[in-house]
Amino acid sequence: MTQVQGYLDQLVAHIEKQNSGQEEYLQAIHEFLPTIYPYLESHPEIVERNVLALLLEPERLIKFRVPWQDDQGKWQVNTGFRVQYNSALGPYKGGLRFHPTVNESIMKFLAFEQIFKNSLTGLPIGGGKGGSDFDPKGKSDAEIMSFCQSFMTELHKYIGPNTDIPAGDIGVGAREIGYLFGQYKRLAQYDAGVLTGKPLAYWGSLGRTEATGYGLVYFVRELLKDMKDSFKGKRVLVSGSGNVAIYAMEKVIQLGGIVLACSDSNGYVYDENGIDLDVVKQIKEQQRGRISEYLTYKPTAVYEENHSIWELSTAVDIALPCATQNEINLELAKNLAKNGVQIVAEGANMPTTLEAVHFYEEQGILYCPGKAANAGGVAVSALEMSQNAQRLPWSKEEVDDKLEEIMTHIYETCRDTASKYGMEQNFLAGANIAGVEKVITAMMSQGLV
Ligand code: GLU
Repeated sequence: MTQVQGYLDQLVAHIEKQNSGQEEYLQAIHEFLPTIYPYLESHPEIVERNVLALLLEPERLIKFRVPWQDDQGKWQVNTGFRVQYNSALGPYKGGLRFHPTVNESIMKFLAFEQIFKNSLTGLPIGGGKGGSDFDPKGKSDAEIMSFCQSFMTELHKYIGPNTDIPAGDIGVGAREIGYLFGQYKRLAQYDAGVLTGKPLAYWGSLGRTEATGYGLVYFVRELLKDMKDSFKGKRVLVSGSGNVAIYAMEKVIQLGGIVLACSDSNGYVYDENGIDLDVVKQIKEQQRGRISEYLTYKPTAVYEENHSIWELSTAVDIALPCATQNEINLELAKNLAKNGVQIVAEGANMPTTLEAVHFYEEQGILYCPGKAANAGGVAVSALEMSQNAQRLPWSKEEVDDKLEEIMTHIYETCRDTASKYGMEQNFLAGANIAGVEKVITAMMSQGLV
């Protein structure tokens, strides 16, 4: 056994013991470590100094009680989290997720992934993530406000524009960021740079709402360009119908692709004429409704309740999973392969299980991991921080031009890093190595802190 392999085995055994039962977190570690093997081989000082042991331990994990009152006057309680994972490249940066599945494992996997994603953007931001097991579904506006205020009453002690800058994620959009910011302002001071994804009425950035989805499509466009191809006429499936999915669909359609289906947690809708995005926006952005309502506008479409969009049987060129973690398992990946998929690019964080990722590799399906392909959201968050610091809003064109530039750079970095280590078109390895290289260099230069 090589020295590197021995070191990795020892580390993994330790991490598995320390984090037993934390499935998603261990999955992220198991996905990450083997891919950086060639990098470690050529950098023996990292192994000799045991630097990875520091990288694989969050700097700080905050867990707190969030009490709030529902519309019936009953007291409720949820758990809040903020994982401040790594600050080598800058203040912690990453979203807040409000969803009933949120637990320590999910928070840690998301924060871990965020470190490398943020590193790939080339902007000065460290990695963090937070959220709560609060379920916003079906809650009134008053309940959402009460919850957000209580969440921030505790969180404000740990964040700041130069310390930790949260943003949105699943269940947290401009409305929630608004309530969170209102409470922060009340408890601390008017530091608009403490949160990103703010409403446009005050200190928000044009183009932030669209950024993750557009960025995802820019990444794939660059890959297609390398293949002397484009989105024109491509058959695309997009899971989800939240912010990421909606703007991924919008950009695919603008570039001449056909989006055949999208979904929410109840089911999926298939429209052979191509999904009508205005209808999806009306349902999701205006009415906060369910995707099943698509049929009231487009009776010829098909709705499948309690089925995954990835079970669909239809010819597909490109799959854009934009819903949530582990939505594509091995069986569903096999179905995608049967449908002829060539590219899977992740708008969500870790939507593919490890077995399915290995399957893509075996089949020669090009796989664009979330930490690279969906980095456009956090990249524009960092641009929002720049605008806030300058006290100058940029135009939508300026933000979008920068986003395109950043996504093109991320794609090229992943491609070139993979080639450099002899793993042509392995964008996962390229992303992990390029991402970690900067973080480790910064950690080593800052000394033991
Ligand atoms: N939640 C997003 C992500 O997964 C955005 C984070 C941010 O803007 O800070 O990258």
